[in-house]
Amino acid sequence: MTQIHEQIKQELTDIEIRFDAPLKDYTYTKVGGPADYLAFPKNKAELIRLVVFANEYNIPWIVLGNASNLIVRDGGIRGFVILFDRLDNITVNGYTIEAEAGASLIETTKVALYHSLTGFEFACGIPGSVGGAVFMNAGAYGGEIAHVLVSAQILTRDGQIKTLETEDLRFGYRSSFIQDSGAIVISAKFALSPGDYHLIQQEMNRLNYLRALKQPLEYPSCGSVFKRPHGYFAGQLIMEAGLKGYRIGGVEVSQKHAGFMINVDQGTAQDYENLIAAVIEKVRLHSGVTLEPEVRIIGEALE
Ligand code: FAD
Repeated sequence: MTQIHEQIKQELTDIEIRFDAPLKDYTYTKVGGPADYLAFPKNKAELIRLVVFANEYNIPWIVLGNASNLIVRDGGIRGFVILFDRLDNITVNGYTIEAEAGASLIETTKVALYHSLTGFEFACGIPGSVGGAVFMNAGAYGGEIAHVLVSAQILTRDGQIKTLETEDLRFGYRSSFIQDSGAIVISAKFALSPGDYHLIQQEMNRLNYLRALKQPLEYPSCGSVFKRPHGYFAGQLIMEAGLKGYRIGGVEVSQKHAGFMINVDQGTAQDYENLIAAVIEKVRLHSGVTLEPEVRIIGEALE
């Protein structure tokens, strides 16, 4: 371990890297153990150096965006966790917006509004990064990333940069080719249309109002825990099974929206995992439908 620490300090000198960094400071759920090495590359070159270094020394690595669709287990993550906070540039060229993976999706929709570009309103309240949104094919209110994406620049796991068009990204409901390939999204290009500033703003205000009305935004959470089962709504099935307010440890099924699990009292990742398992089982017994998590659970449990 110490030898690798020394190697990191010598070979990756100018890259910001924190050792043994608690991830609960970064996750939306406010749970998660430490990352061995938490890295913040400032540009593409640093990102590539990190990946090449980790591959060379056989150190596992993972990239995170805003950690809004994640439960990091309490034992944390071994190896490198690469955060994109410093890669957040957004540029506009005509009706096209190009955003680096670390740009906030909400900020990107604000840039669209500023330039009176329509098509991105659906995403104005999704608290992910651009990279995480492409990875997940994030969507809301009838829209999804696949509808506006033109192409994404990616870094393959073995360190090659490629540009993939929307068709190559094989988007499905909350799924994309990125999930299967393990590649990193570096940036994404979105095609929008000219619109009316006030109408775009009105629509964004309407969607954000609906969100605040229905979702427990005042608590740490990971958004909708489950994918929408075919022909049903996860939240409704959970509510009908009598599970609103059902709690394990410090995590409970939201009273406001049963599809959300909120961290109400210093909950842990283990509380989340136990509650997810219990809800799946109780809903299956009540309705015969097996819920499938949308949230991604990563890292190691505490021993
Ligand atoms: P993270 O949670 O950081 O990561 C998710 C996955 O993406 C991980 O496996 C990670 O490794 C991978 N990843 C992240 N960045 C990259 C990258 N650059 N390259 C490759 N892989 C990457 N989602 C919706 O779709 N619609 C909603 O309406 C919605 N509402 C939400 C409301 C709340 C209050 C919350 C907390 C969440 C909500 N979400 C919603 C979930 C979440 O915001 C989205 O899934 C979002 O796209 C995740 O982006 P992220 O940057 O936070 O990804």
